[in-house]
Amino acid sequence: MSKQDGAEGRSLEEGPIVVVGGGQAGQSWIEALRGAGYEGRLVLIGEEPIQPYQRPPLSKKYLLGEMALERLFFRPPNYYRDMEVETRWGTRLTGIDPNAKSITLDGDESLVYAKLGLATGARPRLLPEAIGGAAPGVYPARTIADIDAMTSEFIEGRRVAVIGGGYIGLEAAAVAAQRGLKVTVVEMAARLLSRVAPPETAAYFHALHTNHGVDIRCGVGLERFELGPNGRVARAVLSDGTALEVDFVLVGVGVSPNVEAAESAGLAVENGIVVDAQGRTSDPHIYAAGDCAFFPYGEGRIRLESVQNAIDQAAVAACAMMGAGETYAPTPWFWSDQYNVKLQIAGLSTGVDHVVTRPGRTPESQSVWCFQGERLLAVDAMNDPRAYMTAKRWLEAGVSPDPARVADPEADLKTLI
Ligand code: NAP
Repeated sequence: MSKQDGAEGRSLEEGPIVVVGGGQAGQSWIEALRGAGYEGRLVLIGEEPIQPYQRPPLSKKYLLGEMALERLFFRPPNYYRDMEVETRWGTRLTGIDPNAKSITLDGDESLVYAKLGLATGARPRLLPEAIGGAAPGVYPARTIADIDAMTSEFIEGRRVAVIGGGYIGLEAAAVAAQRGLKVTVVEMAARLLSRVAPPETAAYFHALHTNHGVDIRCGVGLERFELGPNGRVARAVLSDGTALEVDFVLVGVGVSPNVEAAESAGLAVENGIVVDAQGRTSDPHIYAAGDCAFFPYGEGRIRLESVQNAIDQAAVAACAMMGAGETYAPTPWFWSDQYNVKLQIAGLSTGVDHVVTRPGRTPESQSVWCFQGERLLAVDAMNDPRAYMTAKRWLEAGVSPDPARVADPEADLKTLI
């Protein structure tokens, strides 16, 4: 690591290292920097007016009212002072000047950096205003503020339309059904979870939700919302001409990475901020990690929206800032909780050409094994932690079991490899 760093003559020891993003990746980044022995000035900037918190419980236990706000925080409030991290909550990155090695905050304040970490995350896609996407009673679900705004709507007997059959939509639908609401899920694709899971997993969750009384409409999009006399959303008109009477609407139609500042600064941006396997962007003093980063994976590049990716990629980028050369080559993992079912996923099912379903030890336990030829790509395990743990180990080791033996419920997984 050179002492003098860049044309501005700012040394890394003097810093500051500035990390922009108050989510999981930003948190992991500062912890990894301090953990790796960085003792210089460190600034963490978050757009939300609140310290970093876990997002996964928002559409699960927090929405269900079973988790207090304080339990969402990664660290107690005094953590940042104790670790000598300067924090700026409620502050928005509005520009980056890579030549001056400075950023602009909230349009007018400027802050210099020795190294810059971008953990700017993603924001929910919204439905167009022209079709009523911004009407009162239509809620996105990404932040604590989003969830707090809608909790008073979750009253037994009320009717909710959930637009989007991805994880957000299904987790929220499960909460609503458990709270006694009448739930309809509207998914444009031909089946649920089409972006993230094979048809077998989607069918399992389709049946699970249907058994809990959720009305699932696939292959149908939203045409428009109509408002009631009180100015709130009252009806969702679908592309097949049907109309749903609703009390409120929850929208989970995916996210877009926050790349605008990076793009305006001239950094390479495709489906996210382009980084190498150490998290380095096209500028040697700027790094990116988490939901916003488009990184090398297999033969190409991907952007991953997951907790695992935020934690691990940010840690690698933090260490790279300190001169380490560790390569980020993850075995991605995810989880989802719906009703009494825990879904655990190891690997990515993109490119699957052969699926084997293996029953577990209880009626609701099952695992879906995704292969490309003989190669194991991913496993979705429903209430089957054994299958998940075994598959994750095999994926990490790059070994694959014989698909025919996986399908045999009598075969002990432990003996397959
Ligand atoms: P998602 O996984 O992209 O799912 C959104 C779904 O909505 C897609 O199936 C999409 O279909 C569909 N859709 C898009 N526009 C629509 C429309 N106009 N009408 C009906 N359906 C429409 O995203 P998400 O569920 O909103 O989640 C947001 C982010 O949070 C993701 O990164 C997700 O991975 C993350 N998250 C993760 C978890 C977990 O891991 N347990 C839980 C919650 C959220 P197309 O694919 O055809 O566009």
